[in-house]
Amino acid sequence: MQQTDEKTSYEYTLNTWPRGRDEKQPITNSCNRPFKTVEIDMYTNCNLCTCTGWLPRPVGKITDFSCLEDIWDNPRAHEIQKDVTDKKFTWCAVEHCGIKQHDNYEPIYQIVFAIDDSCNLQCPSCRREKKMHTEGPLYEEKLRAVQHTVDLINKFDKPAHILFNCSGDPLASHLSRPFLQSYVGNDKQTFTLFTNGMLIKKLLPSTGIFPRITKYWISIDAGSPDVYKQVRVGGDWDTLMGSLDFLKEQGLSKLVTLQFVVQKNNFRDIPNFIKLLEKYDFRGLMSNLDDWGTWNREPVETPDAWTIKNGTYRDHNVLDSRHDLYAECKTVVESVLGNKRLSFHPRLTHLLGIKKF
Ligand code: SF4
Ligand code: SF4
Repeated sequence: MQQTDEKTSYEYTLNTWPRGRDEKQPITNSCNRPFKTVEIDMYTNCNLCTCTGWLPRPVGKITDFSCLEDIWDNPRAHEIQKDVTDKKFTWCAVEHCGIKQHDNYEPIYQIVFAIDDSCNLQCPSCRREKKMHTEGPLYEEKLRAVQHTVDLINKFDKPAHILFNCSGDPLASHLSRPFLQSYVGNDKQTFTLFTNGMLIKKLLPSTGIFPRITKYWISIDAGSPDVYKQVRVGGDWDTLMGSLDFLKEQGLSKLVTLQFVVQKNNFRDIPNFIKLLEKYDFRGLMSNLDDWGTWNREPVETPDAWTIKNGTYRDHNVLDSRHDLYAECKTVVESVLGNKRLSFHPRLTHLLGIKKF
């Protein structure tokens, strides 16, 4: 497993997105996430929001805590809670987390399990090569952290929703599977499963979380096999369809949202994506393409072999008004705005200059 530099990573993330309040246009909305939410990230650090990118300021390692309650009750947590309560949002990604548009209120505890970024696929928007961590000192350390996390969750007796796992595929990960095997939990706990869908039919039914899943987010970014092949490299369309069939047969259609990140290679596939939603009676969410640092942001003079083959973020970010295909993409998205099955991330509609729909 590759050793990673935690400090640099948080600093990079902090500097990537705009943060803090704008004195000319103060944010008046409120947020209780630093009191109710934890994301356990890939360094096994605890961050007090649903996404590390939104609030990259860890309050400690999960193994530092002997009960979940202590994550929200320590000096560093108090500092962040005060900052957000005072509406300063010093470390908050205010352009991305929705706080400018609405209050962010969590009625119950949210635990985001994102310790491992292993995945059985290698989508160019996400990673340059396949990541599947299975051995080494860091793997062993994470394994202990996973066991500790599941022990804490098993004894946590307050209502909680667990989001499992936003940084890779939890059904493929060798670090998430021990969680699935050891999880007992209780009836106050529910789950959201984030997955690429490949292993739903094969692995999910035998896990302890299966009966407690109330939301499935399946990220497919396509509506047809040809486009799927480009955006979900390593995925198998027929296997994906088998998983979707399984969920429908189990009567779980109302729990499923298919995700579609709009980019150059897939925006013309949006009509097929909608047909898929109709066929399975699922909902869909369309969102913008974020820059996770996988592609080079801009063209460079001497691109490496991967960039020559896969292009740059600028090539793929069709939601940039300077992109040649921006107008065409906007027309396609506008044509589906009224579809009742679809939701749109506010950032997507903002980038396309769509105000009301
Ligand atoms: S304001 Fe945004 S980034 Fe900050 S804690 Fe709330 S949701 Fe997270
Ligand atoms: S399926 Fe999701 S987690 Fe896996 S490589 Fe693709 S985008 Fe990344």
